Amino acid sequence: MENSHIRVLLVDGQEEDCVLTRRLLSKAMSKHLVLERVTGYERAREAIRQNAHDVYLIDYRLGERTGLDLLREAIYDGCKAPMIMLTTQADHHIDTEAIKAGAADSLVKGQITATLLERSIRYAIERKRADERMAYLAQYDSLTGLANRSLFKELLSLALARAERSGKHVALMYLDLDRFKIINDSLGHDAGDHVLKVVAQRLRSRMRRSDTVARLGGDEFTVILEGVGTVQDATKVAQELLHIIALPITVQDQEIVVTPSIGIAIYPQYGTDPETLIKHADIAMYRAKRQGRNAYRFYTTETGGKAYEHLALESRLRRALDRGEFLLHYQPQIEMASGRIVAMEALLRWRNPDRGMMPPDEFIPLAEENGMIIPIGEWVLWTACRQNKHWQEAGLSPTRVSVNLSARQFRQKSFVEMVERVLHETKLAPQYLELELTESLLFESNGTSINRLKELKALGINISIDDFGTGYSSLSYLKSFPIDALKIDRSFVGDIPNSLEDSAIAGGMIALAHGLKLQVTAEGVETRAQFDFLQERGCDLIQGYLLSLPLPAEDVTTQLRTGYLLVA
Ligand code: C2E
Ligand code: MG
Ligand code: MG
Repeated sequence: MENSHIRVLLVDGQEEDCVLTRRLLSKAMSKHLVLERVTGYERAREAIRQNAHDVYLIDYRLGERTGLDLLREAIYDGCKAPMIMLTTQADHHIDTEAIKAGAADSLVKGQITATLLERSIRYAIERKRADERMAYLAQYDSLTGLANRSLFKELLSLALARAERSGKHVALMYLDLDRFKIINDSLGHDAGDHVLKVVAQRLRSRMRRSDTVARLGGDEFTVILEGVGTVQDATKVAQELLHIIALPITVQDQEIVVTPSIGIAIYPQYGTDPETLIKHADIAMYRAKRQGRNAYRFYTTETGGKAYEHLALESRLRRALDRGEFLLHYQPQIEMASGRIVAMEALLRWRNPDRGMMPPDEFIPLAEENGMIIPIGEWVLWTACRQNKHWQEAGLSPTRVSVNLSARQFRQKSFVEMVERVLHETKLAPQYLELELTESLLFESNGTSINRLKELKALGINISIDDFGTGYSSLSYLKSFPIDALKIDRSFVGDIPNSLEDSAIAGGMIALAHGLKLQVTAEGVETRAQFDFLQERGCDLIQGYLLSLPLPAEDVTTQLRTGYLLVA
């Protein structure tokens, strides 16, 4: 605002008032001011429609109609510049009405000083600019200046609507840089940012003004090509993009080369709505990666189908950790005798952008298969320990946090070291961590598992056997393995007390655990009848919907503040 002029339109019928306002204004900001004035209501409305001013000063008294009416109509007409209402002593209660209607400020004429007026105008304009900047930031990626994900989706919808009318094709390209993580990890984030900026610039320079280039986040970009005549057109663009992106980039005095993998989906053959088209372009991109990277692939029905749904999920899963899409819910375990909360089980959730919140059973098997469970599991452990430490620091009564493990994690040579490091970094005392292992996990790890368990135990943490009864039938391991507790699988709990068999099994497990001096927890307790049965059999801890669903950390904080959960 320093050098440019501020164009002010004063809407005021009172001659004397105008002279006064003009004088105050020129005193406050004489150098930068261009003041115009209109008197009548209709002429004012007309002038505001011209959209040629930076700020409007509107008198409340405008004859038959009021300044408030004008303000409302101006906003209705789409006026973007701020409006300041001027009232007299007699109608100064209009303030709130005016602000509610959208005025930037409301000033009482007799009380206006030069400073007050200047400040009011300056703030009104600055606030307007800040709003516009916010609106801009919400649509553009701050690093590259390209459209962001939300604007991209909007533009894609518009492009598809246009294509529907014109009968033309649209090509959606999904680009992901190959091995970008290596650049970030070895040269640092500044270098990574630089590369992203250069790539963005190259993409933009190649495309026509009417084409959209967006950054979806990380190293993922999209390009919308409108009015595509043939597949050859899209091919030509894809080839050129491969070429220009792969030109050397100078980073920290060295030249590096990055390549993209590009997936292309054509409207309307392979998707008529934005979501489907994006998904298909992503699948095709993933195929390009699988087949050696630095290439483009078109989505076709042959690439579709179940196998590629699976691939798409896998590619999403690989990126989910970096994108912060995982979260933990916590479910309390209570001591039956007292109702005291003694532990919180951390249960993993995935907020998948395409499918919404996903339970662990739907993606952990895949994560185990492709090895992603290692970094994901480490994240879970870290997050759960840090959360527990937070609760303790907030003065809540200390409880254990229990974390589920997969066999693949447990098999890692460096697993014990990792646990030790997490405890050290989060400063959580080991007795407040419990690890839940399954029977099959212990047996899959043939031989090494007992030693690994002993090492874990030596750290001072608790170990429990999860889903007890669903794994191996040999129980001899129970006496030689250093474990603290058994968790009766919820499949045995569901039908007690009605099923005599399940009741006998659950009762037997409780007796077995106690005979071995182990604690026993019943999972999946949903009814009062189950609760009564388990209590009668002397079960130590219970967990289940009867007490609480697994909840986000904030909600669990309330439970921990009380420290007890009682069954009605
Ligand atoms: P789990 O360790 O046996 O966890 C208990 C499961 O029972 C949870 O399912 C929980 O939501 C559910 N549950 C709790 N109370 C009740 C109830 O009263 N009735 C019924 N019907 N269900 C109840 P969730 O959260 O879907 O987790 C499923 C499994 O996924 C877990 O079974 C665990 O084996 C695995 N899992 C969860 N988080 C992780 C993790 O961070 N890492 C690994 N490796 N596995 C995890
Ligand atoms: Mg568990
Ligand atoms: Mg379980």
